[in-house]
Amino acid sequence: MNEDSARHCEERSDEAIQEPSRDSGLLRFARNDEKAMTTPSGPAPKTLRSVADLAAVGLTDPDRAAALEAVEERYSVAMTPEIAALIDPADPDDPIARQFLPDERELETRPEELADPIGDNAFSPTEGLVHRYPDRVLLKLLSVCPVYCRFCFRRETVGLGKGAGLSEEALDKALTYIAERPQIFEVILTGGDPLALSARRLRTVAERLAAIEHVAVLRVHTRAPTAAPRLVTPERLDAMKASGKAVYMVLHVNHARELSPDARAAVTAIQNAGVSTLSQTVLLAGVNDDADTLERLMRSLVAARITPYYLHHPDLAPGTGHFRIPLDEGRRLYAELARRLSGIALPSYVLDIPGGYGKVPLQQSHLERDGNGGWRVIDRSGCAHSYADEGRATAERA
Ligand code: SF4
Repeated sequence: MNEDSARHCEERSDEAIQEPSRDSGLLRFARNDEKAMTTPSGPAPKTLRSVADLAAVGLTDPDRAAALEAVEERYSVAMTPEIAALIDPADPDDPIARQFLPDERELETRPEELADPIGDNAFSPTEGLVHRYPDRVLLKLLSVCPVYCRFCFRRETVGLGKGAGLSEEALDKALTYIAERPQIFEVILTGGDPLALSARRLRTVAERLAAIEHVAVLRVHTRAPTAAPRLVTPERLDAMKASGKAVYMVLHVNHARELSPDARAAVTAIQNAGVSTLSQTVLLAGVNDDADTLERLMRSLVAARITPYYLHHPDLAPGTGHFRIPLDEGRRLYAELARRLSGIALPSYVLDIPGGYGKVPLQQSHLERDGNGGWRVIDRSGCAHSYADEGRATAERA
């Protein structure tokens, strides 16, 4: 790395930080959807939102209540009835349960873990906006989700009482920022889960984006089609299309069992609305860290006309060490997957370099040993960054 590129790396890491304001009001939209949902036998069951709720339906051991409530105090808990229905309570290693049930190990923060692991704050020019790559921005409209994944990379800012629904003033500033920069080709709604917004709020944002001609693509990152398929309504789909942009939806799916019949119906509705569907998967110890499970997932996605886009190496989010596997093990797994799958079924295996230096594909030459048992990760600009690797986590719950 020469002196110029060293300075360049230094400058990128010194950009201003802006925290979002605090407000959790947007969750009411998701709650209203729950109230509206009925089944032939009456109102549908509600989302489980506490350790007590989970214990009441036999999903957690009452003897662990005190320890798990300490986790719940720090990181929000939510499991929708659709997700609860996928869990086999007799299986202590159920891969769906592992993603959503709180675990005592979440309170163990490792030295390498970061509150903002992918560096959103360092690239936030105005509240709710992240501008890391020249041609695209993230627009974070809310900080709540229908479920709370225990490995969430934004767990310090996503959850009840943790962050804001973007105010009108902040939204104005974010849209002005986008309008003033013709290089911004793509706006990515992310979160919190954008489908937890009301159709009316989504439409407001989409119509305002419609007025910004240089934005050609609206991308929506969501867990809802599998975790809360009832949120995929014609009104929300119409609202997104009101942007007049090419709309892409990137579905977060980690296991083939998440593609339930209701989830598949939601995906079909999305596709029939003319929205392109891709997926992102997090490589998670005890959930999908074997080639057979990943192969089954990718084939199920392609069969549902969802293009596998990213396989993420898990981020260094606090209290998530038990979900991570070593990088070289992930690369071995990916090589096996690449041997088995065709190009349309094979996602890119990527690492978001801690600190906000962007994603790099791990199957390419972005990774080298540092000579001391660790790794150097090379970003798109040729800058090298140390990556603290670790031993393999055990898959059992504490
Ligand atoms: S859906 Fe995404 S943002 Fe929400 S908790 Fe899960 S990983 Fe985090």
